[in-house]
Amino acid sequence: MQENRCGCGALLFRSAAGAIAGQVDIKCRRCGTVNSIRPIEARQHERRERLSGEDACGFRPKR
Ligand SMILES: [Zn+2]
Repeated sequence: MQENRCGCGALLFRSAAGAIAGQVDIKCRRCGTVNSIRPIEARQHERRERLSGEDACGFRPKR
């Protein structure tokens, strides 16, 4: 199970891997912040896109 926590450290909810299909907005009962929870797989995908974007900028270290 994956624990989804607020920035203040309060546990918002637990979910199984792949249980969240889209973005979930949940308000923290402790501090009142609205947290946007997104699927873990989508987050990893974004990171990969960002990395490949850096590769595509044309910068190559000289050998
Ligand atoms: Zn909170």
